[in-house]
Amino acid sequence: MNQNQETIEADLRGLLEGEVRCDDVFVEMFSSDASIYAIKPLGVVRPRHEDDVSACVQYAADNQLAIHARGAGTGLAGGALGAGLVLDFSHFMRRIVDDQEETVTVQPGVTLAQLNRHLAERGRHFGPDPATHDVTTLGGMLAVDASGSHWLEYGSVRRHVESLRVVLADGSRADFSANSPIEISVSADGTSRSAQLTREIGKLLERDSAFIANHVPQTRVNNCGYCIHDVFKANRVNFPRLLVGSEGTLALIVEATLRTQPLPSYRNVALLLFDRLENAALAALEMPSMGASACDLMDRRLLTLARETNVHFDLLIPSDTEAVLLVEAEGDDLVQVRDVIDRMIDRVRRRRRLAFGARVASDAFEFELFWQLARQVVPSLYRLTGTSRPLPFIEDAAIPPETLPDFLVNVQNVLKKHHLTASVFSHAGHGQLHVRPFLDLANNDHMHKLHALASDFYEEVWQCGGTISGEHGDGLSRTPFVAQQYGPLYRTLREVKRIFDPHGVLNPGKVIGNDPHLMTANLRRVRQARSEHVAASVDNSNDQQSAEGAQGSLQAGNMSLQLSWSEAELAHAARECNGCGACRSQEQQWRMCPMYRFAPREEASPRAKANLMRSMSTGRLDPSEMSGDDLKRIADLCFHCHQCRLECPATVDIPKLMMECKAQYVATNGLRPSDAFFARLEFFSKWGNLVHPVMNWAFGNRQMRWLLEKMCGLAQGRKLPRFARRPFTRLASRRRLTRASRGAGRKVLYFVDIYANWFDVQLAETFVAVLEHNGVGVYVHPDQRQSGMSMISLGIVDKARKVAAENVALLAEAIRQGYHIVTTEPSAALCLTHEYLNLLDDDDARLVAENTSEACDYLWKLHQTSQLRLDMKPISATVGYHAPCHMKALQNGTPGANLLRLIPSLTVRHVDAGCSGMAGTFGFKRENYRTSLRSGWGLITALRDPDLQVGTTECSSCKIQMEQGTTKPTIHPIKLLALAYGLAPEVVALMNARAEELIVT
Ligand SMILES: Cc1cc2nc3c(=O)[nH]c(=O)nc-3n(C[C@H](O)[C@H](O)[C@H](O)COP(=O)(O)OP(=O)(O)OC[C@H]3O[C@@H](n4cnc5c(N)ncnc54)[C@H](O)[C@@H]3O)c2cc1C
Ligand code: SF4
Ligand code: SF4
Repeated sequence: MNQNQETIEADLRGLLEGEVRCDDVFVEMFSSDASIYAIKPLGVVRPRHEDDVSACVQYAADNQLAIHARGAGTGLAGGALGAGLVLDFSHFMRRIVDDQEETVTVQPGVTLAQLNRHLAERGRHFGPDPATHDVTTLGGMLAVDASGSHWLEYGSVRRHVESLRVVLADGSRADFSANSPIEISVSADGTSRSAQLTREIGKLLERDSAFIANHVPQTRVNNCGYCIHDVFKANRVNFPRLLVGSEGTLALIVEATLRTQPLPSYRNVALLLFDRLENAALAALEMPSMGASACDLMDRRLLTLARETNVHFDLLIPSDTEAVLLVEAEGDDLVQVRDVIDRMIDRVRRRRRLAFGARVASDAFEFELFWQLARQVVPSLYRLTGTSRPLPFIEDAAIPPETLPDFLVNVQNVLKKHHLTASVFSHAGHGQLHVRPFLDLANNDHMHKLHALASDFYEEVWQCGGTISGEHGDGLSRTPFVAQQYGPLYRTLREVKRIFDPHGVLNPGKVIGNDPHLMTANLRRVRQARSEHVAASVDNSNDQQSAEGAQGSLQAGNMSLQLSWSEAELAHAARECNGCGACRSQEQQWRMCPMYRFAPREEASPRAKANLMRSMSTGRLDPSEMSGDDLKRIADLCFHCHQCRLECPATVDIPKLMMECKAQYVATNGLRPSDAFFARLEFFSKWGNLVHPVMNWAFGNRQMRWLLEKMCGLAQGRKLPRFARRPFTRLASRRRLTRASRGAGRKVLYFVDIYANWFDVQLAETFVAVLEHNGVGVYVHPDQRQSGMSMISLGIVDKARKVAAENVALLAEAIRQGYHIVTTEPSAALCLTHEYLNLLDDDDARLVAENTSEACDYLWKLHQTSQLRLDMKPISATVGYHAPCHMKALQNGTPGANLLRLIPSLTVRHVDAGCSGMAGTFGFKRENYRTSLRSGWGLITALRDPDLQVGTTECSSCKIQMEQGTTKPTIHPIKLLALAYGLAPEVVALMNARAEELIVT
């Protein structure tokens, strides 16, 4: 932070109640969004209320600083980026203020999904639906006049705005209503800022009205420049119409009253399959008049990717399909909805013979699946191998729909001219086109093509009466072309900006700007993926930041990495994040990111972590930050649950990036005292077991728990497991399980790990019994160590590597003797199959990874090959199954629940309440205890359902959390299986046991 930033931070902290941050690491998280740009802001302000917004704008105006409003940062044109103060509305200002029969009043940080969840309770919703609806804020939607697939039914945001409360460029406030627009004559004499605006804007629009009418694009949507054609009517100025779509350049929206719509009772959707892209475009022309509420077109490239990444799409869409139209009908009459779909299919298949096939969604699953195709496939393009990515910079053109077939041919010619390919997605029903050329941000030749390609492409757009922006706004990508689109009308637009913001405080340079190089001036730096030493730098003399990036990359080249990967691989992993913001979702259907879900702020999101690591690898951040406290605090917001790696459309490996980050910190600063206990868990378990009567008493004693918290950082309120009387390995030795067998047949090396060895020996015993019952030979290696997951998640990499090496040596040898490795702990399975490969780059580690299974998965596979005995007795109970994050990360479904379903009379219910919040040892630590409880509260509450007798899960940490807020026992599926086999009658007592205040069952 420089001196200027220090002053600003101190000043604003004195003026505002909200948060103000100007330190390097924090502001860097706000330097990018879903666009291809990065600009480091001076500072970030999180206003608590409109007074903060007003005070901040006033301060900015007094000190000649720029203000850039920001919602979720999912904008594709870089609209929320800038070198001034970023106002992050998404953190504090996310309240639904008022809810009337047909209107709702919201603060700008409310997400569309949050609003629609609220409205759905009384059968209503807010119709415009950008694909990012889970995370996009209403402020962002209003500022770009967002719309989406359902434009045919609901139009864009503009159509539904009743009134806006705004902060103007001098910090004053104004309320503007659409229903009663202020008449010029009424307010002309007024001296208030809003009266002055009314007078000046009214005069301007009245003067230029004929002129304006002649320059409106002939498109259904238009978001280029300011939308002024219908703002001034009958001597009245409709300010909400003008401000919606103005990208934070005229005023900041602090409250909006929106009209809501009734939810349709029925919806159905179909995929129409075409062997020519042009045929799909021709068919799309017919859909709106036939009653389609949505009509989206996807090209071959998108379909190929969808087929590769999801087996359902592979089955649905034949490989020779060139294009697909997704069409939807909605209404309150089921027969009518079906009829619309049937007629659309009949029309394009039989009558016009344009489509060669059609698929109609037959149930809710397929309905969601079809929509997933439209919404997930574009960000998924970042999964492709190679370094070129579908870059958004000309992605928002809109054309008159009837010109679409010819336009698509012309676009292909433009791309050919520049030797490029692109993906094409289109809301074809209303002529909105998302074309993303494949380019490599680290390739100078590619970057030099951006401007020429955009110019040629936009020429085609204008030729057919289109506009360069229909949905996403101008931002940094399109502002340099606004003047060209509007010609002489641009003067009027510039006047609008001057009247609202004479000193250029609000998002300066966007919409109205005179920098011809803006489109390429602030490109997001990425490092070349395949080269170790060459830092990516776009040779652009206008770009100060590019120079910084290149120089910093060389510094970053000296970084000594802690994991088994090269700097180029780290850089590649970090650049895979396209900033789409999907990981900011708090919706039920996603598990990522448990931490963000509980504490919705940018730094908790996986995106922030990828951005910081990219900044580190390109030198935007000083490499010394890697071992600094600021970055460590953000890395600590990742508890290594792996859910983002699974669910991120671009599969960015955030857990690995954060493991490297934490390891860098530990390598430089050593272990923090609070981590020391968890780093030596195996050691403490061993010694604790020797004095287990004392330890078990201490675990259940409040005073001793207070002491343990002070000494070891172990949260005093956290329930703990009792130590076993003796470790399982000793019992195994007595039973001669610790001797390897040279015999043939199915045989398993049981990797016991800490919990089953030192605490829940019953689990280990029942697992061995179940295996033997099924004719599987069991071997327990006497020298096996813990898996080391607790060290890995804390970044204690050197110790974890040592443990991994010891385990791998003995496990690989066993595999060569014909053993398969099986463990009852999902985290241990994840370590052996995934994490060890990040620590050890050798063939034995790969051999272990390929030959390791989690216990339930192993047994379920036996069942699938008819090798599992089914001589199970009934258990009359209803159990609530929780799928642990690390089990999900293994990507083998829910084998524990599947096995339990084999037990007669046992009812298994999935408790779909998200992450448990434990994440290995995270939830045991004093400083994380409350966070962990809040994250897992959904699960804890669900377990309290009186219909559930018992909880069940494969993970020991999740079990502990599941028993935290209830006395109900949570039992491993293997134990229930052993009970059903008649191998462990003592489990009946466990089913009736009650967890104590500080001890689990
Ligand atoms: C994969 C993907 C798909 C997308 N699909 C669509 C789509 O179908 N339709 C669509 O319309 N968009 C789409 N977008 C773009 C983007 O998601 C939307 O434009 C979204 O509405 C932006 O909202 P946000 O909260 O992320 O705003 P941000 O990106 O944070 O900001 C967007 C603009 O709004 C301004 N702003 C934010 N808050 C305020 C405020 N309170 N007052 C004044 N100005 C403010 C910012 O300054 C900026 O100019 C997509 C983006 C991605 C990554
Ligand atoms: S981490 Fe993934 S989901 Fe999150 S912003 Fe990046 S690409 Fe999108
Ligand atoms: S690994 Fe889990 S906690 Fe970490 S960023 Fe990803 S989803 Fe969030």
